[in-house]
Formats: sequence, structure tokens, C-alpha cells
Amino acid sequence: MAHPAPTPLQSRLHRLRKQVVLASNGAFLLYSLLTALVEPELRRALLGLDWGELLSGDLRSHAPRFWGMAVALFGLITVLIWPRRVRELFLVYVLALLAVALIETRRMLLSELMPFHLTLWLTASVPTFFLIYGTRRGLWLSTLIFGVLVFTLLFTAWPLPGPLRGDVAADWITVFIVMVVSGLSSALLMGLIENNMMINERTIEELRRARIDVVTGVYSRAVIEEELEAAWQECAAQGRALSVVMCDIDHFKRVNDVHGHRVGDEVLHAFAQCLSLSLSRQGLRSSAKVGRWGGEEFLILLPDHTEAQARTVAETLRRAVVDYPLAGLMVTASFGVSCSLGLEERAEQATRPRQLFEEADLALYSAKRAGRNAVH
Ligand code: GH3
Ligand code: MG
Ligand code: MG
Repeated sequence: MAHPAPTPLQSRLHRLRKQVVLASNGAFLLYSLLTALVEPELRRALLGLDWGELLSGDLRSHAPRFWGMAVALFGLITVLIWPRRVRELFLVYVLALLAVALIETRRMLLSELMPFHLTLWLTASVPTFFLIYGTRRGLWLSTLIFGVLVFTLLFTAWPLPGPLRGDVAADWITVFIVMVVSGLSSALLMGLIENNMMINERTIEELRRARIDVVTGVYSRAVIEEELEAAWQECAAQGRALSVVMCDIDHFKRVNDVHGHRVGDEVLHAFAQCLSLSLSRQGLRSSAKVGRWGGEEFLILLPDHTEAQARTVAETLRRAVVDYPLAGLMVTASFGVSCSLGLEERAEQATRPRQLFEEADLALYSAKRAGRNAVH
């Protein structure tokens, strides 16, 4: 199933997620590097690239910090390479960070110390979980991390107060309270953002629907009139031609009389879709605009088309209508064309878009009088 295109707000949120992940990975990398460099022995081993010492010598107790560095570097590079996979990549980063934190927590607890840096980083990551995964999954993930930390603490330090010194226990209490407060306030904030995004999407959808005619699926009268005015202003300002085509289904009243209004509506819908499809096939999908003027009459705007070019487009539309049954019925339509070029001499400035439409309408009636199923 095709996914709908993201709304501007969704795209912005996605960009924000990527930036936040890059910033948090970058910050963690900087932290690991700087805190390693301030310790003389570590600095010597790091700058001398003494891997043996770093990984298996006396300095191996610092291994979690190196793993942390590796994880942050991995997160940074992969998000830069695959920015669309930011959710999956951040999950790998968080789980790896959690694994590092657990090893560090256990090791520090056994030495009666507090893994203050890593717990601080995990706490700082909590708002990011909500931003990346939304309120519900963010809550799950924060609870998981919180639970795993509590479990490790209890598992290592049981029976409490056991090996936990008073000041270490106070640090843990502080970390847990800050984590919970940060998680809850992030959940509330993200809930507010999500709620607003939902309202925004619904408003966009309602506005989009209000612009579309319900029977035919093309622009409604008010919108195509606005579009005519706007296209006129734009083309006139830039010295470009604007052509309009007015079309009307032939003997449509008979369709209603013979087959009923429901079939009549289906024919109207199929007719409008036939016009849109044929315009797309002529490479005019984004430039041409179609709207229902009223009843079984439609207006088509063709910017950058001279009268002769617009006539060719209309002739292709006329043939498309003749060639395909619409809602199972063979119908024909008549078309009238007019162009803005030379209109300056024929009308006052303020009435020119109106005049353009009226000339197309006159041409349409000339096509009707000439026997219908024609372009005039
Ligand atoms: P001509 O070839 O001269 O255009 O003849 P016509 O029968 O197409 O034109 P006429 O203006 O006599 O009739 C138009 C009909 O379109 C009359 C009206 O009932 C019908 N109509 C207008 N709007 C709708 C609609 O939304 N649904 C349906 N089913 N019919 C509609
Ligand atoms: Mg008609
Ligand atoms: Mg009509």
C-alpha cells in the first residue's frame, strides 16, 4: 500500500529527530574522549594507541568508556549514512548504551562507587526516546531502562542496604527521581505535540476536502475561480500566455432522464477523472488545473499555452471522452477555447480574467451550435 506523502510538520519532526540523534551521539563521543584524555594514564595509552594496555592491561577497567565511544561513533556514522533509519539506529544505540551502563553499574557497585556519568547520560537520553518513538513507545523504552537499572542495582547490592554506602544510595535515589521526572515531563510534552499534529493533519485534510467537489473529485467552483485569478496574475506579470478551456457534456439531461440521477453522478465523476487522466498523459499533471464550473460544465486552466496549443490539448480531451465509456455509457462533450494573448486590447484590466472565461464560454456555445462533440 502506498504511504501518503508526509505533511510539512511530519517532515520537520523527522529532521528534528535526526538532528537530536546526531547531537546526542556527538555529545557522548565528545564526553568519552575528553574524560579519557583528562586522566594521565589513559591519555598516554590513547595517544600512543596502546591497544594491549587499553583492552587487557591495567586500564581495562575503563573498557566501558571505550565501548561507549564505539557505540556513539557507530550511531553518528550510521545516522549520517541512513538518515531515514534513525528510529532503528537509535534503538541499537540505546540498547548498546544500556549494556555498557549495566556492566559499568555492576563494576562500580562492587567497588562501592556510583556510575554517575553513565546514569547521567541515560537520564539525558530519556526526552530523546519520546521525541524519536512517540509517547507510548517512549514510555515503554524509558520504563525498560529504568527497570533494568533497578534490577541490576538490587541484584548486585541485595540484601539492601547491604554493600551500598549511604552516599552512594543517595546518588542512586537522586538519579532515579530525576529519571522519573524527566520521563514524565517528556511524556506530557510529547503528548501535547502529538495531539497538535493530529489536529493539524485533520485540519489539512478538511481544508483539502473543502477545495474538492464531492461528486467529481476535481476543484470546486470557488477554488477554480480563485485559481483562474491567480494564474491570470502570475502569467500576466511574467508575460506568459494563459489559455482556458470550457467544456460541457452533450445532452447530459438525457443521461439523467434515461438512467437516473445516480448514474448521472457516476458519469460526471468518470468524465472529470477522464479529463484529469488525459491531462496527466499529456504531461500536464502539475501545470493544468481542472474544476467543476457547475452542473456538467468544467473549466480547465492551461498556463503557457497559446490558443493553438490549447486547442490541441482540448482535441485530445474530446477524443479521450469519445473513446472510453464513462460509467458504462458512451458520451461526448463540446469544448470552447480562449487565450490571454491579445486580450489587453479587448478588455479592461480588472475584467480580463472574466473576459477570458466568457470568450471560452462563447466558443463552447459555438461548438454546441455547430453540432456538439467539437472544439471551437
Ligand atoms: P447540451 O448538450 O446542450 O449541453 O444539453 P444538456 O442536456 O447537457 O444540457 P442541459 O443544460 O439542458 O442539462 C444539464 C443537466 O445536467 C440538467 C441537470 O439535471 C443535470 N445536472 C446538473 N448538475 C447535476 C448533478 O450534480 N448530478 C446529476 N446527475 N445531474 C446534474
Ligand atoms: Mg450539457
Ligand atoms: Mg450545461
